[in-house]
Amino acid sequence: MTGLKDAIKKMPKAELHRHLEGCVRVPTIIDIARRHGLKLPTFDEAGLTKLAKLSGPMGSLAEVLGMFELAQSAFVSYEAVERITFEAMEDAFTKENIRLLELRYSPDFMLKGKGLDWQKALDVMLGAIRDFRRSLPFFCGIIVIASRSYGMESALKTVDFAVKNKGGIIGFDFADDEINYPSPLYAEAAGKLHAAGIPLTVHSGEEGEYTQVLETINSLNPGRIGHGVKSVEDPSGKTLSLIKERGITIETNPFSNYLTRAVKRLEDHPLKKFIKAGVSVSISADDPEILDTDLNKEYLLAVEKIGLSMDDLAYANKCALAASFLPPGIKQEAAKLF
Ligand SMILES: [Zn+2]
Repeated sequence: MTGLKDAIKKMPKAELHRHLEGCVRVPTIIDIARRHGLKLPTFDEAGLTKLAKLSGPMGSLAEVLGMFELAQSAFVSYEAVERITFEAMEDAFTKENIRLLELRYSPDFMLKGKGLDWQKALDVMLGAIRDFRRSLPFFCGIIVIASRSYGMESALKTVDFAVKNKGGIIGFDFADDEINYPSPLYAEAAGKLHAAGIPLTVHSGEEGEYTQVLETINSLNPGRIGHGVKSVEDPSGKTLSLIKERGITIETNPFSNYLTRAVKRLEDHPLKKFIKAGVSVSISADDPEILDTDLNKEYLLAVEKIGLSMDDLAYANKCALAASFLPPGIKQEAAKLF
């Protein structure tokens, strides 16, 4: 087993689906709260860890939202944004051997109530990436998210922000509450992104029905889909065929799906089915700090619980590299590290 763990850790990896708000270390939350005189339920690291990390399948959505709020409370200044971005890359590079990382964030969620300027915060993040990778074999890009549950005005503002920053960011994502805010609502917004040449991924089919994945593909035409768990439930197999036909990459997040109960057991996760069907598929950690996971753990679970072989892992890693939204020249550079 140690052999497998070591082999996985050593693999140079590409990670496409990771939320910056889900990457905040607990000691960092505490330190930033101290520096800025913020309130926390406790300043004890072990105590706060219990409140900040999910230790098993979630009891309620409120419990998880509380964890995200704790992490979000740390984005209190530009220095904090810079530090959290830096630490997210440091963890990925040193602990997980990630060589290509896509970080995503929702400006409206991350900066809500903080009085910080969206543009300045993004500039700080992009600066942190430039500084970090200057001396390291590491490539990183930022995806901007519209949080569906924040309403249409927020989504449109976020799309405009992304279009204005198309030279700095690498992609766009519509995330969260797909049931109350179905994909067709964003067809026009997605059209704007396509017209601007901004690659699109969409959180879809994490919960609910496979029909939502079909709706997402038909109304938003994304290059990638986050989660996509429900797409294998289509009895006709049409949804999977369409994903394959369109060359869409599914960004799977196995442990996240287990913790949020999108799958009952890890053994039920459709990752292997995607691979068998010849779909382009990647493995990601979603919110490593909050979900107490990382890419090493995701790969290990994929082998031990979902039945992937080392060849399957290499395939998923190759798919991630190929489907990255980073510019082709940068991907070519990154590919030399794999
Ligand atoms: Zn996600």
